[in-house]
Amino acid sequence: MNLTVIGGGPGGYVAAFYAADLGMNVTLIDLERNPGGVCLYRGCIPSKALLHVAKLIHEAEQAKNWGVEFGKPKIDLDKLRNFKNNVVSKLTGGLGQIAKQRKVNFIQGRASFINSTKLKIETIDGKTIEHSFDKAIVATGSVIATIPSLNIQSKRLLNSTSALDLPEIPKSLLVVGGGYIGLELGSVYQALGTQVSVVEMLPNILPGADRDLVNFLVKRVKETFAELMTSSKVLEMKEIDNAIKVKIQDEKGNVVEKNYDYVLMSIGRKPETRGLGLENTKVTLTERGWIKVNKQMQTTDPNIYAIGDIAGEPMLAHKASHEGRIAVEAIAGHKVAFEPMAIPAVVFTDPEVAWAGLTEEEARKQGIKYEVAKFPWAASGRAITLDRTDGVTKLIIDPDTQRLLGIGICGPNAGELISEGVLAIEMGANVTDLKLTIHPHPTLSETIMDAAEVFFGQSAHY
Ligand code: FAD
Repeated sequence: MNLTVIGGGPGGYVAAFYAADLGMNVTLIDLERNPGGVCLYRGCIPSKALLHVAKLIHEAEQAKNWGVEFGKPKIDLDKLRNFKNNVVSKLTGGLGQIAKQRKVNFIQGRASFINSTKLKIETIDGKTIEHSFDKAIVATGSVIATIPSLNIQSKRLLNSTSALDLPEIPKSLLVVGGGYIGLELGSVYQALGTQVSVVEMLPNILPGADRDLVNFLVKRVKETFAELMTSSKVLEMKEIDNAIKVKIQDEKGNVVEKNYDYVLMSIGRKPETRGLGLENTKVTLTERGWIKVNKQMQTTDPNIYAIGDIAGEPMLAHKASHEGRIAVEAIAGHKVAFEPMAIPAVVFTDPEVAWAGLTEEEARKQGIKYEVAKFPWAASGRAITLDRTDGVTKLIIDPDTQRLLGIGICGPNAGELISEGVLAIEMGANVTDLKLTIHPHPTLSETIMDAAEVFFGQSAHY
């Protein structure tokens, strides 16, 4: 079986390596020198390296409340940039090595379909080659969405990629868009000393996440950021001397003008299918531009599969990797389907916000019967030792079967803690299982057991 994977992100490289493990003859094509994709080069990984530093700065600031004073941090931007770049090259270089070890034929270049069994590849060294395949997996990911009317030519207008390059530490930064990418990058700059403002069109930041969780983050953002403007809209931007002048319609409908050193546009991402030659195949798209796939990740062209951001929401790395494995198994003839009970989502702000399975709002909208059990971190011994009681663990439970339908956690390390809930949902665990599972003390993971005890009205701590 000749399998060709187009795009070397967390969808594509996982699929390619797994297919090689299953004995397929695999070619992996990507524009970069090594596999890694958006996630490793300009997404999950560099942002988390910088957020780690932001967390350290915050903890050092907070330490004065505990009798330890470090003073104002001195930021060496070159060193910080190098740290982040080294993290990226270590990981992407490692993937390049694994590709060699697995005998995956890695080609650096741009691929487009000639037909349902043949690709044209423009390689990095200027050659154009034709390449045939039995099956192909499209894993070309997504690109930054823009608002054409706000697309001014200015080095002061950043997107998520240029913001990760840390051009300088601006005095002020306006983040346009209160989604997870804007909030994470805004948090990095805030920790480095920038006055960060956020403008979001909708009434809330992180639309889609549970309000009980997000409220803690909103409180923190209001305390540490310069401004949080919700139900507000950027109408116009203009570069002036050493700043960008921004016209904003605020929640009362008033139009205000403000100047910012830099503006970070972060309004979302969209699937990028341009230039892929999909019109030469039987692949079709959804109304919103994603490639249509079935539960085996097969497109409407039987030879072509699609995974990751190009195949629909949620646009997350772990969802892309899981789909990659499903596609490869389907191609290998195994009986598989992409049917996860829960896909975790994590916002790596401070506090972190994480959830999986049904949210309360989804349950309500879908008319699903549910009960809620909440354990506030103000009652958690571990949270108190960390001096971080600004959190909550929330369970959504089926009242008839007492099965866990959803879980939400807000607080430091929520992103690490959520996996227990994901496993519980996948395994069909009920709230008694969570209650009876002995959790180590004193840890934040106990808050899941504590929330289960709350459900039965038997909490030892709340
Ligand atoms: P991608 O990672 O987008 O990779 C696609 C690859 O295909 C790219 O390398 C591209 O060069 C290549 N390509 C495109 N067209 C062609 C072509 N014609 N020929 C050859 N190659 C091509 N997700 C998380 O789960 N957790 C996070 O914390 C997180 N943080 C993020 C932070 C930021 C700032 C951003 C921007 C994204 C973040 N994401 C995060 C989202 C995550 O990066 C994506 O969901 C993930 O990378 C999608 O993987 P993918 O395999 O679908 O494609």
